[in-house]
Amino acid sequence: MQRDLLVIGGGPAGSAAAITAARAGLSVTLFEKGPYGRDKVCGDGLTPRAIAALDELRIDHSVAHRINGLRMIAGKKERELLWPTTDRFPNHGAVWPRKSFDNHLLDVAIASGVDVRFECEALPVLEDNRCVGVVVGTEKFTAPFTVLAAGAQGQAAQILGAVRDPNETFGLAIRAYAPTPRHAERHLEACLSLSDEHGTAVPGYGWMFPAGDGTVNVGVGALSTMKGFKKLNLNTLLDQYSSLVRESWSLGEYVEKPRAWRLPMSCVRRSGPGWVAVGDSAGFVNPMNGEGIDYGLESGMLAAQKFIEDPVTASQAYDREVGERFDSFLRTGRRFSFIIGHPWLLKPGLRVAVGTQKAADITLAVMGNLIDSSTPGAAGRVMRIADTSLRLADPLLRRTRAKA
Ligand SMILES: Cc1cc2nc3c(=O)[nH]c(=O)nc-3n(C[C@H](O)[C@H](O)[C@H](O)COP(=O)(O)OP(=O)(O)OC[C@H]3O[C@@H](n4cnc5c(N)ncnc54)[C@H](O)[C@@H]3O)c2cc1C
Repeated sequence: MQRDLLVIGGGPAGSAAAITAARAGLSVTLFEKGPYGRDKVCGDGLTPRAIAALDELRIDHSVAHRINGLRMIAGKKERELLWPTTDRFPNHGAVWPRKSFDNHLLDVAIASGVDVRFECEALPVLEDNRCVGVVVGTEKFTAPFTVLAAGAQGQAAQILGAVRDPNETFGLAIRAYAPTPRHAERHLEACLSLSDEHGTAVPGYGWMFPAGDGTVNVGVGALSTMKGFKKLNLNTLLDQYSSLVRESWSLGEYVEKPRAWRLPMSCVRRSGPGWVAVGDSAGFVNPMNGEGIDYGLESGMLAAQKFIEDPVTASQAYDREVGERFDSFLRTGRRFSFIIGHPWLLKPGLRVAVGTQKAADITLAVMGNLIDSSTPGAAGRVMRIADTSLRLADPLLRRTRAKA
């Protein structure tokens, strides 16, 4: 079967690409290996930037539980802040459980004319180093352009060489849902001072993301730069964190078994002749907060826009523009992750991060993905200084990284 565009994966990144292309009149087939209604392990948190991306994609998010800010906890310090009003993003985020969020996007895709095929594992087909389509079992589909939106890198990514850089940071995170009377709260909660069962500080955070449906999404995430990462038991870390918040949240038992998944933060190759990678497949997860939904939506839309503009140059144009938008910020985040991998730097760093109102505002801007080095004001200045100093310190950071 011949199509204009093929999309591998039905998460936010794949749906964003498919919806954008179908609305422009292209014939699009999207393959999702899960069934209709599949769930994705996630914290379900949408930052104001992700809401802006949904607005750009013209997705009605009124059913999502609106979030007005963030409560940050580090040791005994606690700060509650509202998302600021900026001219770039709205002043609210949301919690939208992935089971309904992803399905909503796929429903919009179907309504926009995308041919969505569930329970279909698609693998790219290369001819003379060009991606010419995909195979699903024995069935072949051809198209001038294929979007790899298959999430954390697996078999489809390997065929294209779109794999993770083994020298770079990645993350692991686990989440569960539990009933709480505080489910309708309008603040996300992030505990930045996590420790493992041996008392070693963990670079990452524990979260309570109220879903507004009687439950809270409770989870923990950690970066691979910490000492002993390979031995880190995420289930134990989650149980420890849950017991810490049980009383204040009157937390009930998990409604299902906790589930963990990877957070890819790099990709050695995100484009080639006839294809591009978007979202997690391209390693677009923010090492400073574990956010990937916004990057998935933005990169998915951009990939389709570039193909609509000019199919011949789409692959290179996407690579260049997505790089301009994300690379420097995400690189700074990865460098930062090497610093906080050292417990003796992480602990005093946390004290500074929430120690004063000004510092907490900047931490909020970082956690909320509201800044990059082009942002004006104090937060943008800090980002620019971090960009430069971490670039200079990079070789040292890597040499002295906390050993597993
Ligand atoms: C525990 C945890 C908590 C997180 N919390 C947050 C959060 O609160 N906010 C946030 O922004 N981000 C969060 N993230 C990151 C976020 O979940 C991802 O960045 C996001 O899902 C990326 O979207 P995607 O569309 O690129 O990939 P995915 O959502 O992973 O979608 C990829 C899809 O491709 C399908 N697929 C894979 N291979 C194939 C194939 N060969 N053929 C067909 N289909 C295929 C998969 O079944 C899947 O449905 C979290 C991640 C984890 C693990």
